Amino acid sequence: MDKTLEVKNLTKIFSVGSIFSRTKITAVDNVSFHIRPAEIFALAGESGCGKTTTAKIILGFEEPTTGEILFKGKPIWTWRRKPRQYMKDVQAVFQNPFETFNPLKPVDEFFYETVRNYGIAEHKNDVEAVIRTKLEAVGLSFEEIRGRYPNELSGGQLQRASIARALLTNPCLLVADEPVSMVDASLRISIVNLFKKLKDEFGLSVLYITHDLATAYYVSDRIAIMFRGNIIEMGPVDLVLTKPRHPYTRLLRESVPEPDPQKKWLQKITVTTTEHEEYLRKGCKFGGRCPMAINRCKTEVPEECFLEDGVMVKCHLYEQEDVMQAEIIGSEQESKKG
Ligand code: SF4
Repeated sequence: MDKTLEVKNLTKIFSVGSIFSRTKITAVDNVSFHIRPAEIFALAGESGCGKTTTAKIILGFEEPTTGEILFKGKPIWTWRRKPRQYMKDVQAVFQNPFETFNPLKPVDEFFYETVRNYGIAEHKNDVEAVIRTKLEAVGLSFEEIRGRYPNELSGGQLQRASIARALLTNPCLLVADEPVSMVDASLRISIVNLFKKLKDEFGLSVLYITHDLATAYYVSDRIAIMFRGNIIEMGPVDLVLTKPRHPYTRLLRESVPEPDPQKKWLQKITVTTTEHEEYLRKGCKFGGRCPMAINRCKTEVPEECFLEDGVMVKCHLYEQEDVMQAEIIGSEQESKKG
């Protein structure tokens, strides 16, 4: 089995506005990628690029407009009925650990309930043994959470506890949506290292959703960069982030001072809708801001181009004969800046 999860041609269109002025927004636009066993795959981009909607569809919280998701080679559900086994195999870790737990209940009660609801163990001693094992895997002891309410734990402890809770069902895949963005800088590294440890020791796959390229570089094996609902560049993380091909990835990369997970990436890059309507209607969605745009970028949507080193880039400059030229222009731009 070379793919734990495969996302094929996924599209999600939302209708917004009142009954008299409905507008359609394409949040996810024909997105395809896969995640291998024991792989950390980052889905990165700015707010509103479609990465969280993609995660919600994978977790079954949203229904796709079109497209398919295969888990271990099989389609996972008809959208109204998620199979119970899939719910055990694919678990979520959310951005805000305080939302994972009911603030009015001790944290350990949530653990007991999860173990019992999924039929993982029945007798008190067995249930406790399962909970202890998972807490130890994330560097916590049972005594640290027993009888304590969420507000009595630190943000770092609670995020570890939420990862331990996700591990209770022995999942193959964790979908982690901005899991360190609400954690202190000093603890961020320990949480991302935890994902690496779970991958190495338990063969867990992780879909790491983030807007932070520094932690994505540090933790992931492969990365996909999203822009306006499309994946515009995808491949091994060191190639995509140290030798970015797509002009948008280059722009993002320039905003990260150095790949250090302790340094939060704060800079926002915004592209407004109205100023580039001509491109958005029929050409490349990044065309209005692209310093390398050519004439056809206004009129033709770029295809996915698969390069020899395993990188996919969605840009006209990489369609066959233009590749060499694009590499030259890109490296000239880099050397002028640096
Ligand atoms: Fe720039 Fe054209 Fe490539 Fe779009 S297709 S990123 S506008 S060069």
